[in-house]
Amino acid sequence: MVVRMRRNRSETAKRRSHHALEGVHTVKCECGAARLPHRACPSCGKYNGRIVIDIVARAKRQARRDTRREKALRESGQITEDKEKETAQS
Ligand SMILES: [Zn+2]
Repeated sequence: MVVRMRRNRSETAKRRSHHALEGVHTVKCECGAARLPHRACPSCGKYNGRIVIDIVARAKRQARRDTRREKALRESGQITEDKEKETAQS
């Protein structure tokens, strides 16, 4: 490093004084769950009092995907019944 680029401890500390991480800010939804401000609630799907996400349809879709995925893994032999027991125990 060239001498003119050298920063002393004080200058380094001043720069790093803005590097601290901040916690996630949450607000309480009308359903009681914590959600991010200015975002739709992931548990009830409401934003500003109206429903913007169809939670039921999303859950159905996810369940269908999970069963299809599990079936595919079973057919390809990546999930055997022994493995299922192991994962259930742990
Ligand atoms: Zn909610």
